[in-house]
Amino acid sequence: MVIRKGGFDDLHSAGLAALRASIAEIAPVLTPVVGALTDWDQVKLLAVRLDRLDRWHRDGFIAIGDAAHAMSPVGGVGVNYAIQDAVALANAITDELRRGGVSSATLHRVQRRRAAPVRIMQRIQRAAHAGITRRTASGRFLPRGVVTALRFASPVVRRLIARLIGLGIRPEHVRPSSNSRR
Ligand SMILES: Cc1cc2nc3c(=O)[nH]c(=O)nc-3n(C[C@H](O)[C@H](O)[C@H](O)COP(=O)(O)OP(=O)(O)OC[C@H]3O[C@@H](n4cnc5c(N)ncnc54)[C@H](O)[C@@H]3O)c2cc1C
Repeated sequence: MVIRKGGFDDLHSAGLAALRASIAEIAPVLTPVVGALTDWDQVKLLAVRLDRLDRWHRDGFIAIGDAAHAMSPVGGVGVNYAIQDAVALANAITDELRRGGVSSATLHRVQRRRAAPVRIMQRIQRAAHAGITRRTASGRFLPRGVVTALRFASPVVRRLIARLIGLGIRPEHVRPSSNSRR
């Protein structure tokens, strides 16, 4: 359930009955079970952030995943991007590490490679936030038109969207290092 920043107090003062009614209205499928919500302790607020570091690395150090870029829950891509950062980093530094140390230039290349897909996905997420925020008052997570369009989208379009979300914008693959022992 999307709650605008600072709006949790209003939700709280409206009472649990109002929250239950709101959930049942947004997702009628939950109507039979919404009565299980009997205490505010069962309700958790997750503050959403969407940002990234300007610089991900220092000498001998690099931040990846959430430490470098906080993704919003839109699309559920946080784990995906964190793992892809790790794969890109491993590919870039393994050989150099074996020779003794990793240069700042290498770490910078990793940041450049991964910052591009992060930036694009965050832009998509920000646009989704704008749509969601407009619709929050009406209680709908996605505009009805978008839901209908997604439902009837051709299998090709659905596959493309699933690929964008599931594999990311620049999928990373583990590359065997040049002198790996098998
Ligand atoms: C409620 C919730 C739901 C989410 N749902 C989804 C979802 O459905 N799909 C999705 O893709 N993403 C989801 N995410 C986001 C996802 O969990 C993160 O994007 C992802 O875990 C980031 O991976 P990470 O390795 O960068 O960081 P983390 O998974 O946070 O790993 C960091 C690790 O470092 C450890 N650590 C911290 N400080 C230190 C220290 N000083 N010394 C040693 N260890 C330390 C922590 O204990 C932790 O184990 C969700 C997040 C939350 C909070």
